[in-house]
Amino acid sequence: MSVALKNDEPQRVKPTLSPDFFYIYNDEDETSDWENAELTECADNSTQTRGGWRLRSPLQKCVMPNRKPRRRRVKLMDWKKYHRLAVIYSFIDDLEKDYPAICTVSVIGKSVEGRDIKMLKISNSNASNSGVWLDACIHPREWISTAVVTYIADMLVKNFFTLSSSITNKDWHIIPVLNPDGYEYTHTHERMWRKNRARYGGECVGVDLNRNFSYAWGQSNGEEGSSDEPSHVFYRGPAPFSEPETIAVRDTILGSITPFKVFLSFHSYFELIIFPWGNKKDPCPDYLHLLEGGSIMARAIHEATGKTYRVGSTKDLTYYACGTSIDWSYSIAKIPYSYMIELRSKKHKFRLPKEEILENCKEIWSAVKDLMDYVDQH
Ligand SMILES: [Zn+2]
Repeated sequence: MSVALKNDEPQRVKPTLSPDFFYIYNDEDETSDWENAELTECADNSTQTRGGWRLRSPLQKCVMPNRKPRRRRVKLMDWKKYHRLAVIYSFIDDLEKDYPAICTVSVIGKSVEGRDIKMLKISNSNASNSGVWLDACIHPREWISTAVVTYIADMLVKNFFTLSSSITNKDWHIIPVLNPDGYEYTHTHERMWRKNRARYGGECVGVDLNRNFSYAWGQSNGEEGSSDEPSHVFYRGPAPFSEPETIAVRDTILGSITPFKVFLSFHSYFELIIFPWGNKKDPCPDYLHLLEGGSIMARAIHEATGKTYRVGSTKDLTYYACGTSIDWSYSIAKIPYSYMIELRSKKHKFRLPKEEILENCKEIWSAVKDLMDYVDQH
């Protein structure tokens, strides 16, 4: 495509970049309003930028980087709205660049469609640390979960050296989007998509990743804790850990030298703090500790914003569910404080208004901090 340039600037060759996303750069204009800059998807790579002005394709809103872009000066991430995968990933990549002493980003696996599953590790590298796991958007329509864990990451990193020792003596493993294919799909096709994008039987049907873990996988006690029907919303997949997204969780945790003490999987929208078991009514061996830790989180949430989150076992507060990540993390990976936190909101369900994102983030940050104190005391 030929692009007319103003001021008789020499025409640049159209860059060939992958059809993902591009940052908005401005090398020369210090005064641009980058806080309000949008990161937008680009399909045809047809737009260029030069200096303080930009050219836009009539079809696309994206802006290409200059030939030698300097480091991006703008923070595109915020908690005023929901963001696409590229913004989330550039946010954690930037944390690693800005705070290399405590931040490491790694790719713990590839999704069914080949997207990176990225993990941000925040740690002072003390060998005696224990591990904390935070994951979000295993169910991709639950966008608030990604906002919450990225907010926690931001708080941890930016305040690391003033936070209490119960926070800094942990190795934080944060997976902001565990199901990146599904996450993008909820932005581009179907807002209410729950599963990954695996294809079984030649048809794209998806697997409910939170039914694909090995503990009690496929079990049925007369109730439907998952489904063997590929079109079902609770389809558990053809075998335990059949999906690359759940394999990434398993291999990262079981391959870790650091022993994990806490596993928090974030979901929405029931405003609950739940723990094992999901596959049976019996209390788990650590029921009282988990109930107490959950209650401490619920209290912190209430003190922060006045919101009331109920606390209890999965089976007691929701419904029969087998093959879930927290039952696996608790029983097989032996992570004693394994919780699933159902974020806001019962009122708006999965479509939590963006105006509530920050409040939800703050109340959960408060809860997570208090849980770390509790965990260290027990
Ligand atoms: Zn969920």
